[in-house]
Amino acid sequence: MSRDRTTPAPASLVREVEELIARGERLGYPVLSQPEIRLGTRSSARSARGGQPARITLDARLLERSAADRHWVLGHELGHLLPGTLRVGSVLQRALLAGGLAIMAVTVLVVVLVAVPRGWAAIPDGPAWNWGLFGIVTGLVIGLAGLMGHSRDTEAACDRASALIYGQTLSKEHVAYLLRHEGLLNRLTPTVLRSHPRPGWRREQVLTAHGDPGTGAPV
Ligand SMILES: [Zn+2]
Repeated sequence: MSRDRTTPAPASLVREVEELIARGERLGYPVLSQPEIRLGTRSSARSARGGQPARITLDARLLERSAADRHWVLGHELGHLLPGTLRVGSVLQRALLAGGLAIMAVTVLVVVLVAVPRGWAAIPDGPAWNWGLFGIVTGLVIGLAGLMGHSRDTEAACDRASALIYGQTLSKEHVAYLLRHEGLLNRLTPTVLRSHPRPGWRREQVLTAHGDPGTGAPV
């Protein structure tokens, strides 16, 4: 059974998205496929896959906010549907992910090799438990650093798309809105483990992008 908690977007919002898509097309940046527009509890974009159409979901609370802030978010989400923002991770990011997975795999293997001769009951009390835990956490953090670095690069590229292709600006008010809604855990997470760059940095990057129109396309 479907657990889709989104609702269809009002016609006015669909029109706003269509206008942004048309602007992108005029500038030579068509979206990969036409998205359906929904309202939900958080904003996101999903490419077409498995027979499902592409979808943009807008945080319904943004209907109450200024059109400029709403359009910024729509421009960012449309960025996720542009071929220019699809990227493979850097060599470092892929190395971190592979390294993290390898550390976790080796840890599990070593714990099993230590545990088997001594019996599984020895693990909770013995050093194998501590080292095993250390290895898993270390591998997890290193792997996540690679994955999250890739994610932040993609989010930054979508911000540039919103600025340069869809002509939107990330306002100070929206930075404050993002900070209010990102939650304490997210705020305390070191940048290297965050899926999105920090809101203040995102605005600085966008202002830089706007100030340098010669750079053209998102990278
Ligand atoms: Zn995004």
